[in-house]
Amino acid sequence: MEPILSIQNISKSYGPIQALKDVSIDVPEGSVFGILGPNGSGKTTMLGIILDVLIAKSGSYKWFGGMPNDAARRQIGSLLETPNFYHYLSAFNNLEITAAISKRGKDDRIRVLKQVGLFDRMNSRFQTYSLGMKQRLAIGAALLGSPKVLVLDEPTNGLDPAGIAEIRELIRKLNKEGLTIIIASHLLDEIEKVCTHVAILKKGNLLLNGPVNEVLLSEDQIEVRAEDAVALQQVLQAMSGIKKINVADNTVQLTCEPTITPVQVNEFCISKGIVLSHLLLKKKSLETKFMELTNDK
Ligand code: ATP
Repeated sequence: MEPILSIQNISKSYGPIQALKDVSIDVPEGSVFGILGPNGSGKTTMLGIILDVLIAKSGSYKWFGGMPNDAARRQIGSLLETPNFYHYLSAFNNLEITAAISKRGKDDRIRVLKQVGLFDRMNSRFQTYSLGMKQRLAIGAALLGSPKVLVLDEPTNGLDPAGIAEIRELIRKLNKEGLTIIIASHLLDEIEKVCTHVAILKKGNLLLNGPVNEVLLSEDQIEVRAEDAVALQQVLQAMSGIKKINVADNTVQLTCEPTITPVQVNEFCISKGIVLSHLLLKKKSLETKFMELTNDK
């Protein structure tokens, strides 16, 4: 299937700062696609480019398989910054103003308010809303005109835990209803919880890209010891499925393919005449992996 958005070799500089370096990403239709990276990695710049707010130095992108035109742009709802809603106006009246500014969807307000779960409170003043409700209204404003894609920059920033939960729930619901959603976030937790796909950026470089369950696969380690650490290390070098061997303080640390279990390691060592005195599976958290990927070394 044709990707809903195809980004090809995009680079962008601000004077001497190279914000994006030859980044290519395909966003599959129906996905919740996370652009993940620490502050300054180029996420907002990338969203700005695909939304025509910024111009890339080189590279190109296609929406819905073609060059971006007005019809395609109408299919894209976006929320880069929280709109300035009027505190004393209701959600319904605020959306009238938003619709006038964006020139789309004035007659769409009831549908949108239902979609973001604010129909029952649409006549309440904005200032009476919780943080989560305010952000849901902002997402509602981006949904006016019934776009096929929603682009959100850090959608849970500044929210309390209840607000964060509400927004994540809404994102999942909108995706189930058929929207493709692109989210920029510096929170691994957010990407892991709501996204189906992820692209990881660091200082403008694309590090990894693909389905969340492949890219963010946690890499466990198996730790082993035996009386003769040197012999143990030599034996394990011949075992298939082991990606890396580290030795520290007579302990051999193995980074393995996901299919390798501690039992298999034990059986292999026994078959080679080595009895293990220590065997431990060390779970590496995704957080650790993400930090290793994105930290400066
Ligand atoms: P954040 O989450 O902090 O917004 P980000 O991942 O969205 O980070 P960008 O905002 O795209 O990253 O910034 C990428 C790099 O480009 C950073 O080094 C940033 O300082 C720089 N940058 C962004 N906008 C400008 C600008 N208008 N002028 C100069 N440098 C900029």
